[in-house]
Amino acid sequence: MSLLVLLGLMAMPPATGAAADSLWAAPRTALAFRAQRPTKRYSVTVPIGKPKPAVPLPRIEGPADDRLPLVVLDAGHGGHDPGAISPHNGRREKDVTLAIARAIRDELVASRRVRVALTRADDRFLVLEERFGIARRLKADLFISIHADAAENQEAGGASVYTLSEVASDREAARLAARENKANIINGVDLGAHGDDISSILIDLTQRETMNASAEFARLLQREASDEVKFRTTGHRFASFVVLKAPDTPSVLFETGFLSNKGDAAFLASAAGRKKVARGVREAVQIHFARRIAAPGR
Ligand SMILES: [Zn+2]
Repeated sequence: MSLLVLLGLMAMPPATGAAADSLWAAPRTALAFRAQRPTKRYSVTVPIGKPKPAVPLPRIEGPADDRLPLVVLDAGHGGHDPGAISPHNGRREKDVTLAIARAIRDELVASRRVRVALTRADDRFLVLEERFGIARRLKADLFISIHADAAENQEAGGASVYTLSEVASDREAARLAARENKANIINGVDLGAHGDDISSILIDLTQRETMNASAEFARLLQREASDEVKFRTTGHRFASFVVLKAPDTPSVLFETGFLSNKGDAAFLASAAGRKKVARGVREAVQIHFARRIAAPGR
């Protein structure tokens, strides 16, 4: 597969002086196409390798009415990437997140107010770009990536909701984003699309509106879920998470608790705990879309 790359070589001024001489004396092979001083744009064919075939789109569940908002739930990690592992019950983050995603899906489908899709419904690996890519291809109205944190300090516990920002809200959020972004790396090879600048994400101005909607949902989620789920004091934080990079889909990363905390690990491993998380998400989702219908463009 090749791609036509348009090299924007604008008309160059006539080359004069020593610098220009050395430029034109450069090896003929490398600069052969410049031999006739460029006076117009050139198109050059450059092989860039085969693009990966897009992952198949998941099934959309819930009422068969495409006027209803679509929520994409993303169970973090999977396949060879277990995520965090609980020192208390040995549960792996990839299994915990999938069970929580399913519980949230069931709760949302039962509400009949939204449609739902899961980025993965089994134990498979997806790179971060594929996760939000699925949401974009489905034209999702909301993307929720589900995770469970771990810390050396086993006292640390509680849930947090993260949204995208170039600048992290605090050091811990920055470290967490760095850790979650590493999901793309296997044996030192980055499988994501933007290997070199994974830690610093440039945010386009067009993303501002999406980011405001994301932040609004993050605050709502904490408010609505905190009756049932224990949150950290600063529930809403931000950092440069690759998985939240979709420019047009409001997105949050929900760290549902700490697998390194004994209480949180037991809560998230229980069906009753997952149901509580799911009810909190359902409440927040319903209010979020009710507000947006009442005041379009919010
Ligand atoms: Zn994670």
